[in-house]
Amino acid sequence: MTPGRPVPPPLAKPLPAIATEENTSGTEVSTADTRLAAAYGATASDSGLVPLTIARRAPKEDDVEIAVEFCGLCHSDVHATRGEWGSQSYPLVPGHEIVGRVSRVGSAVDDFAPGELVGVGCMVDSCRECDSCLDGLEQYCENGMTGTYGAKDARNGDAITQGGYSTSIVVDRRYVLRVPESLDPAAAAPLLCAGVTTFSPLRHFEVEEGDVVGVIGLGGLGHMAVKLAKAMGAEVKVFTTSESKFAAARELGADDVILSRDEAAMEAANRSIDVIIDTVAAPHDLNPYFRTLRLDGALFQLGLPSEAMPPVNPGALIRRRIAYAGSLIGGIAETQEMLDFCAEHGVVSDVEVVRADQLNEAYDRMVAGDVKYRFVLDASTLGSPSERADV
Ligand SMILES: [Zn+2]
Ligand SMILES: [Zn+2]
Repeated sequence: MTPGRPVPPPLAKPLPAIATEENTSGTEVSTADTRLAAAYGATASDSGLVPLTIARRAPKEDDVEIAVEFCGLCHSDVHATRGEWGSQSYPLVPGHEIVGRVSRVGSAVDDFAPGELVGVGCMVDSCRECDSCLDGLEQYCENGMTGTYGAKDARNGDAITQGGYSTSIVVDRRYVLRVPESLDPAAAAPLLCAGVTTFSPLRHFEVEEGDVVGVIGLGGLGHMAVKLAKAMGAEVKVFTTSESKFAAARELGADDVILSRDEAAMEAANRSIDVIIDTVAAPHDLNPYFRTLRLDGALFQLGLPSEAMPPVNPGALIRRRIAYAGSLIGGIAETQEMLDFCAEHGVVSDVEVVRADQLNEAYDRMVAGDVKYRFVLDASTLGSPSERADV
């Protein structure tokens, strides 16, 4: 939060987010339109994912209620549900790569209609008043964006948000994306996090035809970086630590694959790249990669290691005026631009669709790197909600 900047008051009278019959006494909220949703989530850091029933608020005037069809499995979901990013409120339903169809809209919503294919990414609200929000950069909200799950929802009574491993979700229309019908809904789901996370820095660097883009790591983020950079007309070089990934990188469209521990190959790539998208979340030495960048090149680090990185050599940056940068997802307008770009260029994620009862196994496989390249939950396998909400 910016020092001295007051936290804006909630725009609307706060409502309890979960209006079950037990907790509505003394409020004006009607439970008539509240719906229960079947979900999978964690009840503790070591519980794994278990079936839950959650209550979704009745749509307020600006809300869109979405019947979830698919939700991508992101590494963040694993870290959050296992409490690896600090204290967490349980039960917690993860999921922020959500695609589904509008089921109901609030009275003031005229830009979304029932039946429309829509998406929700990593945030469901922000302050809407700070410079970042006013610039369409809600992900950098100076008062903190409201994450799609595990975050306090200031405009809804500080309830903890619950994510997309559920049969429905209710989100303010300002944070709902339009998913082009030409995109396969399951394969489009990972675009909402992995897609926009790699699209945003490529756009920020204004990558275009003739540029050379390097991609470090070939997982959920890396494979999207390759596809998006190719679609922007760039030449793409993939860095990998494993020769076993060479064929897969070429299949995705990489023009060149470089074994990062092969010093001769790294030397041969000296001064050949304009911008590097680094998707590796484990600590790694960046200095050899800086030497592959041209004058005025940039390296965007997208992965957040939990341990310290080896030190960056300032000389490597100074001698070529290299920018070492980070980047966080994308704003709402940019996420929409990315979805439209993907429709225009036929870009989607390579996915393996899983049932709800396979989620725990999918998490283990994801941690082991055994997925090409994103798991997506089929929300129709979540079952039906029980009569009372757990959350
Ligand atoms: Zn994510
Ligand atoms: Zn803001």
